[in-house]
Amino acid sequence: MISVEEAMNRILDSFSPLGLEKTSIIDALGRVIGEDIYAGRAIPPKDHSTMDGYALRAADARGASQGDPAVLDVIDHIPAGTVPKLRIEAGQAARIMTGAPLPEGADAVVRMEETRKAGDRVAVFTEASQGQNIRYAGEDARIGEKIISRGEIIRPAEVEMLASLGRSFILVHQRPLIAIVATGDELINIDEPPSPWKIVCSNSYSLAAMARECGGIPLQIGIAKDRREDLLAKFRAAMRADLIISCGGVSVGDYDLVKEILQEPGNRMHFWQVAMKPGRPLAFGSLGDVPIVALPGNPVSSMVSFEQFIRPAILKMLGHANLFRRTVRARLGEDIEKKQGMRHFIRARIRRDGEDCIVVTTGNQGSDIRMSMVRANGLIILPEEATIVRKDSMVTVQLMDDSLERMPSPGY
Ligand code: AMP
Ligand code: MG
Repeated sequence: MISVEEAMNRILDSFSPLGLEKTSIIDALGRVIGEDIYAGRAIPPKDHSTMDGYALRAADARGASQGDPAVLDVIDHIPAGTVPKLRIEAGQAARIMTGAPLPEGADAVVRMEETRKAGDRVAVFTEASQGQNIRYAGEDARIGEKIISRGEIIRPAEVEMLASLGRSFILVHQRPLIAIVATGDELINIDEPPSPWKIVCSNSYSLAAMARECGGIPLQIGIAKDRREDLLAKFRAAMRADLIISCGGVSVGDYDLVKEILQEPGNRMHFWQVAMKPGRPLAFGSLGDVPIVALPGNPVSSMVSFEQFIRPAILKMLGHANLFRRTVRARLGEDIEKKQGMRHFIRARIRRDGEDCIVVTTGNQGSDIRMSMVRANGLIILPEEATIVRKDSMVTVQLMDDSLERMPSPGY
């Protein structure tokens, strides 16, 4: 049995970022860019006004005030998107709208609110400083300036910038294909008639959902019967993936065949069993060249193990630098007892309480108790050596949605 850290390191060492693909900037949202982006054009392209008002020469408004306005001839009207035709000379101004290019000769814009128009003239009630209310060409981005660096995550702000630069496609890391193979004679498909002796193969769905949530492309291979031939056939179908996840059949039961297959020639089993609860009977190896994480079958075990080991591996393939969920410190709302030796991941509900956070367990922690996951938004991580953890002590909680924004409903 190995520690959670060692298991994590050995799994992560087996993955590297996938190659690049050209993607539309909308589809690139949340993904990691694989190229440096330089501005191919200046933003803004021309000097323009940032206000509705009058473009003028600052010198012409010197000394202007409410009681003694500067009065200028209005020689032009410049809506946004047009080209100014006239040059502003001394004593002249042009009415100008936000975003419209600054006419030659002008070096300031006075806001509409500080002026009053009368016929072909305008009274300016305030002084103006050079450059006021003007955005100069290239002030936002200069031609050739580095805008986005390889390795950054594309957020809506980057999408806006890329659009401004006229870049509709960029290179991002490919999304890994994650094959999911379920095992067990007791499993039925989601749409088969229910039976008291059978269990719906829900893990194919939870694991697919988790794979998709962190950016992978899930490939549901289906259910393998607890027979070597059937399992091999399903594994063969899974081998075009970047990572295979199996669930079930990796414990010490009579029909737990996954480990045997991993130990056959051509395959590898790097380790089996991790000092954690839930999720202890996890195996990691390869089928041919394709890495496989064999998860235990209980729904909670497989999800908690995915969170710890598979999500970081998928994020690494996607090119991310931050592979781990955020952890926060929270005050424990109840006593928890555990045995020494294993790291426990306890399904919990964490909420803000003023400046602090409070966390309570979601009740029965059996690894087949699905509601303990449904009610949870985090996992309390109790270290190997801990035995009794008292109410009001501070514990580490791994957030399962990376924020405290999406809370399970208060009814829980
Ligand atoms: P195993 O790891 O194969 O011993 O399975 C442990 C428990 O998890 C058993 O009660 C299984 O019925 C259940 N289980 C295994 N695979 C799945 C699955 N794909 N979906 C839901 N439950 C499962
Ligand atoms: Mg089984």
